[in-house]
Amino acid sequence: AGTTPSNFISDIVAGDIERGTHGGRVQTRFPPEPNGFLHIGHAKAIVVDFGTAQDFGGTCYLRLDDTNPETEEEAFVDSIVGDIAWLGYEPAEVCHASDYFEQLYTWAEDFISRGLAYVDEQDSETISAGRGGYGKPGIESPFRDRSPEESLEIFRGMRAGKFPDGSRVLRARIDMQHENMQLRDPIMYRIRNMSHHRTGDTWAIYPTYDWAHGQSDAIEGVTHSICTLEFETHRPLYEWFLSHLELEQAPPKQIEFARLELTHTVTSKRRLARLVADGVVDGWDDARMPTLSGLRRRGYPAEAIRSFCREVGTTRTNSRHSIEALESYVRKVHNVRAQRRMAVLHPLRLVLDNWPSDADGNPVVEYFEVANNPEREEDGTRQVAFSGELWIEQEDFAEVPPPKYFRLSPGREVRLRGAYLVTATTVDKDDDGNVVTVHATYDPASKGGTAADGRKVKSTMHWVSAHHAVDGTAALYGRLFTAEAPGERTGEALDDLNPDSRELLTACRLEAALADATPGEVVQFERLGYFAVDPDQPGLFHRTVGLRDEWAA
Ligand code: ATP
Ligand code: MG
Ligand code: MG
Repeated sequence: AGTTPSNFISDIVAGDIERGTHGGRVQTRFPPEPNGFLHIGHAKAIVVDFGTAQDFGGTCYLRLDDTNPETEEEAFVDSIVGDIAWLGYEPAEVCHASDYFEQLYTWAEDFISRGLAYVDEQDSETISAGRGGYGKPGIESPFRDRSPEESLEIFRGMRAGKFPDGSRVLRARIDMQHENMQLRDPIMYRIRNMSHHRTGDTWAIYPTYDWAHGQSDAIEGVTHSICTLEFETHRPLYEWFLSHLELEQAPPKQIEFARLELTHTVTSKRRLARLVADGVVDGWDDARMPTLSGLRRRGYPAEAIRSFCREVGTTRTNSRHSIEALESYVRKVHNVRAQRRMAVLHPLRLVLDNWPSDADGNPVVEYFEVANNPEREEDGTRQVAFSGELWIEQEDFAEVPPPKYFRLSPGREVRLRGAYLVTATTVDKDDDGNVVTVHATYDPASKGGTAADGRKVKSTMHWVSAHHAVDGTAALYGRLFTAEAPGERTGEALDDLNPDSRELLTACRLEAALADATPGEVVQFERLGYFAVDPDQPGLFHRTVGLRDEWAA
């Protein structure tokens, strides 16, 4: 999958290998919470986590960080596993934090016995108020100095489901005056009398992120625990917990890097979940979503996402990258890979009045051999049918051409790509005065699209033979959010939603070969962009991205 450009993380890892910190081993993990689908930000983390391990000949685990039964579902686990495979990575192991609940519990009892943790019976508001703030002293809980025996007995009762939610918590006993709030007796367990998607009703208490995370890293033998910057202030706590375990190997090292954000979209599962719940999009895998499954439906190749994530760099400075940069990676892949096809999105009938008929009075059909991809000769050619009745784009004809308009208009000659030169003559209109048919004559001596006498035309247009066309629907997309940084204005990203982010064109006329396009395939509609065949709905084409350079106006 390529090599990560060297960065501060690879420098740290290389240093640890040199010093033999973890016996020269490198093991990382990607730890998503199964409470939503993975998005482009997660792709960045996956590339960093798996890529760093690969670059040093190490391994990377997938760990489902499933410590919160309220928001987690098995369906999310399945999507996560599938998306990682699609992105091109194979976890050395698939693990679950919930597999460690018993070990975490045992350690917690040990912490209590050693005076390192206690059961607090204050309610959650009192606990957070008592934590104080920067320059504001913390207030010790009246339960802080209860005996280990008493805490243990209550903690066992909590496990047994004897107490209601929110009535008690287990807290680490660290320092209520610590300048880092994370160390002011953080919570290790909460009561949740709730079924868990994997452990069922076994547990009535669930560990917090802070208690579960580093300990899970240690259990798995992780050497470098790479996460995003918001966990920087948690690092002393991560280290504090580990320092009180008796580990046989050196503890894992937490390293933070900046989250990846993209313009015109959001990378927060909570906000993406809102879009799904409110019906703004069709689902997590809607082609407008920045989720991996949405981008896949839209036609983004995994390879382009990987290159983008690698090449934007890995730093400790938060930044929002332009979605256009990601699109340029997408285009680069498809330019080489995508088959070229002709499709008309807004059809207008073009009739060649001098087109010949055969002995039975049927219009003659000619076949032109067209390259499937001029960038890749080995993709070969296909036969495209041409006849006297064609579909062209409405915007390729103007009855009264505006200045600098070089496409078809009465008296004007243009090239039908790969076929013939044609000159428009007259139009037919409906009762409202709309042009419904353009009449034209073709030059039989211009077969292939070049005039015998060498005369030039200013415009080349795509077309589809009306008798051979298949019907299809194209979905055209605008940005999901109008603002570059959604929410910057009002504090609420949803205020910047683009109400017109999708346009469905249901009367497209497609070249016959497109009937054979396979689900998920991305083709180039000439002059129009790259389009992905919907994986579930044949005949539906999502516009992946436009063409950078549209040939001849
Ligand atoms: P969200 O706020 O969307 O729920 P999260 O960080 O809580 O995101 P997790 O499922 O916990 O989501 O994330 C798994 C891993 O992916 C974590 O290590 C997290 O730091 C990383 N990650 C999440 N979002 C991004 C992002 N935008 N850029 C880089 N890494 C990310
Ligand atoms: Mg998280
Ligand atoms: Mg989260």
